[in-house]
Order: sequence, then C-alpha cells, then structure tokens
Amino acid sequence: MDLILSNARVIGAEEDATDIGIAGGRIAAIERGLAADGAEIIDLGGRLVSPGFVETHIHLDKSCILDRVKSEKGDLEEAITEAAKAKATFTPEDVHARAARTLEKSILQGTTHMRTHLEVDPGVGLRSLEGVLPLLKQYAWAIDLQICVFPQEGLLNNPGTDELLVESLKRGCKAIGGAPYVDSDPVGQIDRIFELARKYDVDVDFHLDFGPTADGMTYDHVCRRTEQYQYGGRVAVGHVTKATSLSPAGCDAMAQRMADAGVALTVLPSTDLYLMGRGHTHDYNLTRGVVPAHRLLHHGVNCSLSSNNILNPFTPFGDCSQMRMANLYANVCQVGKQADMRECFAMVTQRPAKMMRLAEYGLAAGKSADLVVLDSQSPEMAVAELSPVLYAFKRGRKTVSRQPAVLHRPQ
Ligand SMILES: [Zn+2]
Repeated sequence: MDLILSNARVIGAEEDATDIGIAGGRIAAIERGLAADGAEIIDLGGRLVSPGFVETHIHLDKSCILDRVKSEKGDLEEAITEAAKAKATFTPEDVHARAARTLEKSILQGTTHMRTHLEVDPGVGLRSLEGVLPLLKQYAWAIDLQICVFPQEGLLNNPGTDELLVESLKRGCKAIGGAPYVDSDPVGQIDRIFELARKYDVDVDFHLDFGPTADGMTYDHVCRRTEQYQYGGRVAVGHVTKATSLSPAGCDAMAQRMADAGVALTVLPSTDLYLMGRGHTHDYNLTRGVVPAHRLLHHGVNCSLSSNNILNPFTPFGDCSQMRMANLYANVCQVGKQADMRECFAMVTQRPAKMMRLAEYGLAAGKSADLVVLDSQSPEMAVAELSPVLYAFKRGRKTVSRQPAVLHRPQ
C-alpha cells in the first residue's frame, strides 16, 4: 500500500475508528490494524472521512466578474443582461484565469468531482469553452471536471446558438442543459435539447422553472420526454423555484412524477435566496424560493445541492464550499431531525455522484481514493457545525491539507 489513513471514522460506520489502505490510487482495504512497509501513514485522530464533495451545478465561465457588472435590482433579468454585457468582452485567457481561480477554491473546499455549466451564444461564441476546456487536463490531478453546455440567453429565439451547442458537443462536452424559461418557446427548447442529448449520447441538466409563481411549469414536459426516450437517471433539473409556490399536495404530485420518470433535482440555495422575492413592494414576508428537497427525497427523487454562481450578478457570494451549501439549505429549509441533516451531507456527496453516474465513487475497497477528511465525527454534525476540510485526496494523492485552528490560552 502507498498510503494508510489510520484512526479514520468512515462515513456510514462512524461508531468505531478504522484504517483505510490506499494502493495505486484506489481504496485497497478498510479495516483496523493495517500496516505496510514503506507506506505513508496519516493518523486522523478519529476524524470523519467521506468521499469527496461533488458539485453538479456551478458556472466557472462567468465566475468572479463582480468588478465589471452592476447589481442594483438584483433580479434574474438584470443578472442576465449584465452577464451578457460582460460576456461580450470575455477572451479565452480571461475565462481561463477566472475559472482556474474558482476551480482552485473548490478543490481547497474538498470538491473532487464537478459538472460546470457553460454558456454558448452568438455573443460569446466558443470563447468561454476555449477558456475552460484546458482546465480538464490541467487540474485532473485534483478534480474530475465535466462541462455541461447550455444556452443562457435562449435557443429558439437566438439564431446561431444551436450551431454553437453542436460544436461544443463535438469538442467533448459531456452534458447539455438549457434555461427554457428565458426562451420564446420553452417546450420547443426542451425538445431540441433532448434531441441533441440523444444524438451525442450525453446527459441532460436543465435550469428549470425559475420564477415567483407556479404558472407555466415545464417539469412535466421534461418528465414526459425522459420517459419517452428512456433517459431516466440521466436527467436533472436545477432551481425549480416555482415549486415553492405549489400547495403541499401539488409539490407531492410533482415529486412523485419526477421520481417515477427518474428526473433528479438540484437545489441552488444561495442563488435562489438572492434572486427570488425581488420586485416586491415591501420588505417583509419575502419569498425564499428554496425548494424543500427533503419533501422530494421522501418520494424517491434524487436531490442534490450545489453552489451555482460565484461572485457575479446572479450571486455576489461564493467560497465554493459544498459544506456551506448544505448548512445554508438546512437552515433555510428548517431541517432539524438528525436523519434529515444526514441527508444534507448526502446531497453534496453520494447523491450528486449518483446523478452524475460516477461508478468509481464511494468509500469501499476498489473505489477511486477520492476522499476528504473533515474535522468532525459524523456527517450530521459536520453540516451543523460547518466543519472544515483538513485533507483532500485525489486518486490516493494528497491534494489539500489544512491545520485545525489552535487556541492560544494565556499561560
Ligand atoms: Zn446555473
């Protein structure tokens, strides 16, 4: 073995500490008393080990642009307009530098797998793609990065966009998304995205049903196409803030429909809290717009949490911490039961891994040694206390280390 993480509290069997042996980038054994000549040994002191964090919905290409946009109204329309203006000036070099900065922050927070959503349209052309594509190889030592290409400014209303989507898929994007709610023909966009997904055999990950009311929801159409094309387990929808205006019975019906079709949900708490509830004439009883994922989980929908936007007009915040997203979601959605708190942790680890169909992911012998060590003893307490990441490993190689804070008491 090359590395032994001794005295580790393995997620799922946290009662007793054990050892994790790693060889050739994979988990070789999980049992007490492991020893091997020449192996590096790191004593974790009983701390929690989990497979790395998985971020399925983050925009590297338009991250870190707060210095060039305004955010006065703070609504979706302004964010799209401001981002479009900024995009017109993007160069591959500029995108590459900002995306790398955001990617490094994610790695430092323990993220080992990522799907980044990336925009193409006649305004930005393929410049963002050209900026982000090299990062897949450059950061492969720390993170598996996948690109989901999508039209943020509409597809059927924006001539030239379709050709750019096709070219992006030919250049290696592994997923395709959309934002039907900004299209002149939302259902038409959904149909065309499915058509392209099937042609290039890639997964589908929409921005869907973003808005302040439950009018005109399109999730049912996505479920219909998913079933028709036997795409269950390969389709995700993000935001779905309209669902927060549904009655409890309406929300349950949506959950059952999505569970039956095999459509997953990604909740983006930071963006939804920032963009929703705008346009009100008062400052009280504002809409929060964060879908209570637990309600859907209980119906069997695979749900996950993700950062979405980092330091741009859609979300002027962002430390790329999936732990913080789990804590923020739990706080906003009033999660208190320990079992539900544990699900918050799963929604930034195992659940998004399932959404991305990561076969090598997990904490078991034979799986890729993509691990994080948290200064905690259980996932529910890690969410409650926002426990820091002390180590990250990618394919068995240490990529991040951080010292726990120390109190300097008076003598
Ligand atoms: Zn997004």
